[in-house]
Amino acid sequence: MTARVSKWPGVELSAADLLDGKVTQTRFRPDAKYAWSAGEAMSRFLEELQKGRLIARTCNSCDRILFPPRMFCEECFRPTDAWRYIHDTGTIETFSISYLDQDAKRIRDPILVGVVSLDGASPKMGMMHYFGEMTKDEIRIGMRVKAAWKPPEEREGSVLDIRYFRPLKKGER
Ligand SMILES: [Zn+2]
Repeated sequence: MTARVSKWPGVELSAADLLDGKVTQTRFRPDAKYAWSAGEAMSRFLEELQKGRLIARTCNSCDRILFPPRMFCEECFRPTDAWRYIHDTGTIETFSISYLDQDAKRIRDPILVGVVSLDGASPKMGMMHYFGEMTKDEIRIGMRVKAAWKPPEEREGSVLDIRYFRPLKKGER
């Protein structure tokens, strides 16, 4: 037979007891520092972004140019072979007109986001990004675009070193 505890010994604490300092307590703000590695391919990709360049990896077995770069070819099941710069121009592969911001709050003026296939990489090798200098009525799949880079001093090795992709102007490459 098990005995049930009908009355706990001691006194329950309330939030007020804690706030009033009736209970011995200590507080501290941890000064925790974190560091992690983005991996070989992603680290180089981010470093190059800060320099205003896009870099890919080539695979000599399937002759593809992989972007974003990766050290292992998922088709050939072998390590990739070399680094290769690609262009900062490309083609809109798909897009969304979003009336939600990054925090899922409603916004009046939509943001345009989607995938760009970059020139110099194999087909369908793209990156997700914002689109700018175009309206929701102008954006099209297949539209030619170019990266709008932040000025060098504002870049920090992030995909947001490119502000957005904007329409490619006539005669521009
Ligand atoms: Zn391959």
